[in-house]
Amino acid sequence: MKAWRGVIEEYRDFLPVTDKTPIVTLFEGNTPLVPAPRLAEATDARMQIYLKCEGFNPTGSFKDRGMTVAISKALETGSRAVICASTGNTSASAAAFAARAGIRAFVMVPKGAVALGKLSQAAIHGAKVLMVDGNFDQALTIVRQIAERYPVTLVNSVNPFRLEGQKTGAFEVCDQLGRAPDYHLVPVGNAGNITAYWRGYREYHRAGRVKELPRMVGFQAAGAAPIYENRVIQEPRTVATAIKIGNPASWGPALEAMKDSRGWIDIVTDEEILRAYRLLAHEEGIFMEPASAATVAGLSKLIKAGRFEPGSTLVLTLTGHGLKDPDTALESASRPTTVPPRVDAVLAQLGL
Ligand SMILES: *Cc1c(COP(=O)(O)O)cnc(C)c1O
Repeated sequence: MKAWRGVIEEYRDFLPVTDKTPIVTLFEGNTPLVPAPRLAEATDARMQIYLKCEGFNPTGSFKDRGMTVAISKALETGSRAVICASTGNTSASAAAFAARAGIRAFVMVPKGAVALGKLSQAAIHGAKVLMVDGNFDQALTIVRQIAERYPVTLVNSVNPFRLEGQKTGAFEVCDQLGRAPDYHLVPVGNAGNITAYWRGYREYHRAGRVKELPRMVGFQAAGAAPIYENRVIQEPRTVATAIKIGNPASWGPALEAMKDSRGWIDIVTDEEILRAYRLLAHEEGIFMEPASAATVAGLSKLIKAGRFEPGSTLVLTLTGHGLKDPDTALESASRPTTVPPRVDAVLAQLGL
């Protein structure tokens, strides 16, 4: 067995790099595809359910797959600084890869709507962090304007290299499963990832690596569901801050992915998201952030509605690690109990 080399080296033939591209990697990718028997039992035992645990990437989210390509290409063209708007994970990833590359990172996040772990990552990696008194969509509009006029590379998913890197998630699923799944479920925020996965499946299919193509199924939070409702949401609301987006950058491509794959986009409520979030942690031992749990919530909803044929193979992308958002975890679970340092007092609590 040889050591994993990061997504660019592992999938070089499928990516827009040359011998001249300086590769900036944190050895991202190679995340586990975990079978979820309890989840299948809780929903429909006749399904094969797998979790693609993207929270196990170097900065704790799938954003690293795209960032390794975006930052490598930025370096190749001589860029010395990158900029992004972010609900948190893009800024954490941009900050880490910029540090690795030895260039500057400027990140803009919506004030009061970024999970603590993500903010601490951007800060410790040395990015210049600006909190905007507004939402993500406004921050994205601002950084797009700045990147057009100043010598700084935009690394949001409107940067085409981001999606190129992110499509490697689909390659890995196929390599790990030995085939493409029947359905691939993802949470949808800016809609870059659903677009990238579909591109990855198509390219692997075209290259003869897999014989099947999955149907792409996306989930938006009910309070932030522009694609589902077919209208821009001015003030998106959801506990799942990573998908709290009212005007997705990859709206059109996501619709195409749905149509081409004969898939669809659905919504889940915050209550359903939080229930799925706890279920995943309690029953499968997997701690992912609320946005990731949107796919698990969606799975339960669609299985109840009979949307999948019995025996189907389903892959769910769990996009980011639970430690990103410790506040939501503590609010969603029972609080620790304080006890005096005596055996009898401890025993009284344990009910053994
Ligand atoms: C970015 C992100 C999403 C949304 O992905 P899009 O490509 O913007 O649709 C979902 N979950 C997590 C944890 C994320 O970081």
